[in-house]
Amino acid sequence: MATILGCIADDFTGATDLAGLLARSGVRVSLRIDVPSEPPSDTAAFEIIALKSRTAPVSKAVAKTRAALKWLRAAGAQRFFWKYCSTFDSTSEGNIGPVAEALMADLGTDQTIYCPAFPENGRAVFMGNLFVGRQPLAESPMKDHPLTPMRDSNLARLLQPQVTRPVGLVDRLAVARGVKSLRSALAELKAQGVAHVVVDAIANADLNVIAEACRDMPLMTGGSAVAMPLPSLYLADGILSRDASQAAVPRIGEGIVVLSGSCSAMTNKQVADYTARGAPAFRLDPLDLAENGPQSALEWLAGQDLSRAPILYATDEPSGVKAAQEKLGAAQAGETVEQALAVCAVAARDAGARRFVVAGGETSGSVAKALGVSRLDIGVEIAPGVPWTFCRSGGHRIALTLKSGNFGAETFFTDARAKLKSA
Ligand code: ADP
Repeated sequence: MATILGCIADDFTGATDLAGLLARSGVRVSLRIDVPSEPPSDTAAFEIIALKSRTAPVSKAVAKTRAALKWLRAAGAQRFFWKYCSTFDSTSEGNIGPVAEALMADLGTDQTIYCPAFPENGRAVFMGNLFVGRQPLAESPMKDHPLTPMRDSNLARLLQPQVTRPVGLVDRLAVARGVKSLRSALAELKAQGVAHVVVDAIANADLNVIAEACRDMPLMTGGSAVAMPLPSLYLADGILSRDASQAAVPRIGEGIVVLSGSCSAMTNKQVADYTARGAPAFRLDPLDLAENGPQSALEWLAGQDLSRAPILYATDEPSGVKAAQEKLGAAQAGETVEQALAVCAVAARDAGARRFVVAGGETSGSVAKALGVSRLDIGVEIAPGVPWTFCRSGGHRIALTLKSGNFGAETFFTDARAKLKSA
């Protein structure tokens, strides 16, 4: 089937987040990890290419994204979506702006929108300012992010140094007046030469208006949520046929393992909740791993009953993470843990695990890479932005869910098990 919407995401869990929201509509969504080396075949109506370009050097991020665009065009897509984080993770160099400008140039379009709002996860844009829950972005924990510290909450001010052409705003008052009002505000800005338009949204109703007004733009950009209404709009427009529905859930073996390398506040709560319920648990200590390797984790795993969904976790409170980082350096501590969890994932698969619950963005990248996963079909959503996915690893059908740090409820690991059972 020809692809209707071609999407490019700047990280891995961001791509599954977008995939989950698009799949809510019941259409088939396919996710590729990195730009496929083969030309498009067996394409879905919604194709997403997951890159790891959020913090890559600008020229590399631009080149990768343009290659992804080329592949998606070959798949038949004529509309495109550039997906970045709902906290607008970027620096004054990029990569959100430079990538958007490169995509606009390749597509020959002179205006796009920016809408990172994701109301279900507490991200709202009002008068051009991004809020995380009740806090302005620059007062949220994102102000201390190790790679992309967000020290301003105003999206136009964040974006302007990243782009060469003017940035403007369509505020909530114009969005609340509806599709016509938004369209005419965009047209007015276009006449003034404004190429990059931040659009306010505080609730899903705003996102519906924005998606409806912008659905035929060659390029839209945003968090995942503004793309969510697109499948039903395309169905109503007759561009998308009803037979583009999801494939049936494949038969997947029962063995299941949970791997958590995220140290985000919510993941700490999730691990505490899961272990308090009596799940078999093994804590990975970065210092021990650096000295002795993952042997003891592998031995523990080998003795587990995989029908009981054992968890291996390095998840720790900030003080523990700091202590490990002081001894090993932040990069090596992270790398050591990621490698150990990746090795455990492969060992679990070889021991019969067919369902993998992974917590952490970087961790997910390492685990998926180790499992040799290149294409994922999107299934049922466990929490907003966190779907189960189906793919192949080592000749087996497996189910994989990749959860970014702060997503999911406290009961996420239990929820994940239950959702696949009832799917
Ligand atoms: P999140 O989505 O919550 O940001 P990530 O997996 O992207 O999670 O990032 C967490 C990083 O922290 C990973 O590189 C992981 O290996 C590392 N890490 C996990 N546990 C520890 C720990 N106890 N000490 C130091 N670093 C850790």
